Amino acid sequence: MNFYYMFIIQGEKVESIKNIGEVTSKSDNLLEIFIQDVSGGGRYNNGLEIIIEEVCGKFSYKGINLIQYDDAYKLRYLYRAGSSRGTDITPTSKVTDIEKTFLNKIIKAFPEGIKFCGKEFKDEKEILTGISSVLNENSAYILEDLKKELTNVPKKEGSFITVAVEDNSGKGYIGDFKVFNKKVVDDALKKFRYSETYKKEVYKDSAVCCLCRKKKEDIFGLVNIFPFYTIDKEGYIAGGFDYERAWRNFPVCKDCAVKLESGKNYLDDYLTFTFYGRKYYLIPKLIFGKDLLKVLDNYKILNSKDAEDVRNKYAGVEEHTLRFLGKQENSISYDLMFIEKNNAALNILLNIEDVAPSRFKKIFSTLDYIRSLEFFEDKIVSFQLLSNVFPRDKFNRYFLETIDKIISDNKIDYKFIMRFFNEYIIDAYKRSEKDEISKEKDSYSTATFRVFGFLYFLEYLNLFKNRKEEIYMSLENKVWDIKDYSSKGEVFQTFFQEANPFFNTSSKKAVFLTGYVAERLLNIQYSREKRKPFLARLKGLKLNKKDVTRLIPEIQNKLIEYKSENYNEVFNLISEYVIDSNGLENLSDLDIPVYFSMGMNMDKNFVITKKKDEN
Ligand SMILES: [Zn+2]
Repeated sequence: MNFYYMFIIQGEKVESIKNIGEVTSKSDNLLEIFIQDVSGGGRYNNGLEIIIEEVCGKFSYKGINLIQYDDAYKLRYLYRAGSSRGTDITPTSKVTDIEKTFLNKIIKAFPEGIKFCGKEFKDEKEILTGISSVLNENSAYILEDLKKELTNVPKKEGSFITVAVEDNSGKGYIGDFKVFNKKVVDDALKKFRYSETYKKEVYKDSAVCCLCRKKKEDIFGLVNIFPFYTIDKEGYIAGGFDYERAWRNFPVCKDCAVKLESGKNYLDDYLTFTFYGRKYYLIPKLIFGKDLLKVLDNYKILNSKDAEDVRNKYAGVEEHTLRFLGKQENSISYDLMFIEKNNAALNILLNIEDVAPSRFKKIFSTLDYIRSLEFFEDKIVSFQLLSNVFPRDKFNRYFLETIDKIISDNKIDYKFIMRFFNEYIIDAYKRSEKDEISKEKDSYSTATFRVFGFLYFLEYLNLFKNRKEEIYMSLENKVWDIKDYSSKGEVFQTFFQEANPFFNTSSKKAVFLTGYVAERLLNIQYSREKRKPFLARLKGLKLNKKDVTRLIPEIQNKLIEYKSENYNEVFNLISEYVIDSNGLENLSDLDIPVYFSMGMNMDKNFVITKKKDEN
């Protein structure tokens, strides 16, 4: 994805975000639009107020006051983030490292404020100068106090620092300084037109705004609510920035820029959700724009505490938002923008565009249907599998790409995903081999059916290649009992038919049954010898076609040794399938772990001996 392309896809999205800003911003007050929540949505809730006392124009340091963040005080703390290396816009900052934050952000923010005063804020300039020298003179002492006070804050909680002035009339905050109010607004507007990094102005006195399409004065060229950085490293503008191109592609007037900024803030506050730990912005797009505010109000419930009531027994909280979208009217479509905050930058990892509610509905009604089938009733069918096989720190990209394909109804590469599913099953198998039980990790049986359930789901949604005809998928039963059938062969054949289209070849049936008899043999070994020597023959489940053909007679001979003749019919069936498939000719090694494991783990689903028969 190159730079130019980024702009094009941004164009439309930016317009939607501007619309959100337009209908949601409650005030025209630029200050209220540009200040930010220093608590970062509750993550930096502990405030360390440095109290400066003023008596008759003399300033002195009084102490530290520990407070809890209060949103009603937002305008008083007056926070707006600056660059990560420089100061913030005012002397209110989130604490990263207490020493660095105090020395490099808080103390240094005063000279910048003083410089900004100019002639306009003469009185305030004097006060700020007074505070600044108190901070400098007492910096070591204040730092000690800050550190001491910080020990009262639980380790996991974040803090922020601000400065307050006390005199006989009461307590004044950073927000009470007019100069800082102006600085916040000016800084925000400056960012729209001036690049600090490249020391370059991108501005025109008059031009057509690309968002409202009107000719306006004061046109900005750097209104970037999302940095140009995608998961695709090619798209990262590292070395330079093409100003001419930026200018030509995205000229924005002040009005639109401000709306965009409030839209972005609204996204941060109300339309940021997570799906299995991955953050995304949900951007609704309406055919009839006038309903936007009503629609947005609707989504507030998604972030409320009541949302927790809607959990269902599987993955309620993860599925809740997307499920909710499935219930919306089809006059809305959605963009899902998966993001990652990286210091000050916001990386766009994946953009899913224009998804209709009916697609979400289809996805979740399919999941519900599968979960309601008796076969899957006690099994886990959920997106959790993708998060397990594609952990965030290692294969996040694959996770997102697969989610994208499912939501966007694009085909999934069966061979690609099976490699990971197999590994997942094999991993669980290895743990079971060693009798390892893990609370966090799936057992062999859970892993096997988690994979099968998800494959069933993907197949149901027709997300694998090359299936044009409608097929009937309804795996209703759970136990296939000989008393309902005329032969053992029929017991299995019925299952194969019901598990349509998963047993579409004789070779898959042969592998499944081989797994089944292998498990029976292991059980018999265990009940007779209290150990399972045959396990060693399964090669840690890394079986190929040759191994399967080798295993069949080996298992049969062992069972004969144990004088267990119950399975003769099953072996006949296996032979038929092997012959029919021309010696498993069309079998892919990729399919062996999952089919073999299903056979092993479904041994209790088949009753092939009449009661009281020996095993
Ligand atoms: Zn405009």
